Amino acid sequence: MQKIAILYDASQAILSTFDLDEVLNRILTIIRDFFQLQNGAVLLMDKSGQELQVRAHLGRSNLDVGYRIPKGKGLTWAAAEIKRPVYAPDVSKDPRYLRRVDETRSEVAIPLMVRDEVVGVLDFQSDQLDYFDLEKIDLLTLFSTQASMALENARLYSAERRRTKQLEAINAVAKKTTRVLDLDELLTVVCRLLMDLFGIDHAAVLLAEGDSLRVRAHEGRLTANLTMGEILSPGSGLAARSLASGRSVIENDVKTVDGYIAGFAETQSEMCVPLVIFGEKLGVLALDSARKNAFDNDDVQPLESVADICAAAIQNAHNFDRMKQLAYVDGLTGIHNRRFFEMRIVEELERAGRFQGRMSVIMVDIDHFKKMNDEFGHLLGDEMLRSVSTILKQQLRKMDMVCRYGGDEFAIVVPETTGESAVRVAEKLRRQVETHFFPGVPRPVTISCGVADYPAHGVTRDEVVAAADAALYQAKQLGRNKVASADMKKEYSASR
Ligand code: GH3
Ligand code: MG
Repeated sequence: MQKIAILYDASQAILSTFDLDEVLNRILTIIRDFFQLQNGAVLLMDKSGQELQVRAHLGRSNLDVGYRIPKGKGLTWAAAEIKRPVYAPDVSKDPRYLRRVDETRSEVAIPLMVRDEVVGVLDFQSDQLDYFDLEKIDLLTLFSTQASMALENARLYSAERRRTKQLEAINAVAKKTTRVLDLDELLTVVCRLLMDLFGIDHAAVLLAEGDSLRVRAHEGRLTANLTMGEILSPGSGLAARSLASGRSVIENDVKTVDGYIAGFAETQSEMCVPLVIFGEKLGVLALDSARKNAFDNDDVQPLESVADICAAAIQNAHNFDRMKQLAYVDGLTGIHNRRFFEMRIVEELERAGRFQGRMSVIMVDIDHFKKMNDEFGHLLGDEMLRSVSTILKQQLRKMDMVCRYGGDEFAIVVPETTGESAVRVAEKLRRQVETHFFPGVPRPVTISCGVADYPAHGVTRDEVVAAADAALYQAKQLGRNKVASADMKKEYSASR
């Protein structure tokens, strides 16, 4: 009776802490001091319920920390399966005994139970035959009940702490992401936060483009097999599976997954969470760990919350991008507007200045547009503006910027081009417009062009634009349907 009282007191002590390692330490101390045992180990059931893993041990290392015993093996698993203590008074006669240390003669395994569930096993070995008498086994069983409770408390406490940490993480992601409107910056911020807050080795954001996924950001410690901007082949891999199903997918041992595509060399576990907003699938968060069994179902909910915030932030950034674009687009023609021209000409002049480069500006104005408006109506006039815009855009290189400067006037920034070459470009434009058939307009529509060269005709924005404007005026003076250059102040093209 007295023994039980002392044991009870000792066991109460282990219940007073919530730290798992501390609990395990105290369990082992009691085993050593109270039971006078030099050989004991605490094994915990792994999440999958398929392995018992040594978490702490006493004395001679007959079971190393981290050592895993697969389901069905040894006395420990026998105890876990029948949910009762299992004793081998002479291990050499017990076929269940896993021979780990030569000295072991007897072994007892006692399950650690919470309600009806086995959460682990206490394992004791002795180098004496039949060392554990009934009383010892009874007391150890009694103690195991207290130990189970302490372990469960520590587990609940750590789950609770983890949840609090995750809630803080969600909050942090929400706070950070609402401020970032640039999409690439946002995605990088998200990856870093996920890594730091969820203890993941690598985080990636894949955004949907049609049926495919494009790698838009990734951050972490692992060796990337994929490159930024790469498009993953449609329909393959965990991420594609997650996107298609709209559900989170966990693979805790990717090497066993058929057709697994390794985005990162060291990945052992991967979790993919779809980014969905208002039913629209924007992409996938891919989270990688170099450990096996890194994710469990408890991770799904907080990571889905983070994914929801990210999806909203991505949508916001998309909208912001579109708004920004709209601010630079002319509503009638769909080409860039004057605001865009003003921004880009300054940038291009700076660039040309830095690299001692050349650039040109072409100002274009439709001839007698007012008259045509009056004659054919404003609606047809609008249509002409659209058609001229299209012709200009089609005839120019991708790097050239054609903008509607106002009314029937267009301004073109032609980077890395001398005035002489720009005159040839303008001439081509003039000819294309002149020969284009505009439905509803019974005669050719024509344009006049003025060309100015940086740095020959001006260095600042005002100087270059004024020179191009003056050249345009010159072209009009010379009879319209003409191209004029700032310096030569003469026509380059005869009218028809
Ligand atoms: P010029 O050859 O000297 O350029 O003669 P013009 O008649 O084209 O003269 P100007 O360039 O000054 O006239 C521009 C006209 O463009 C005036 C205006 O009625 C018309 N306009 C400006 N914006 C629009 C628009 O958005 N739609 C339509 N249909 N017409 C517009
Ligand atoms: Mg005009």
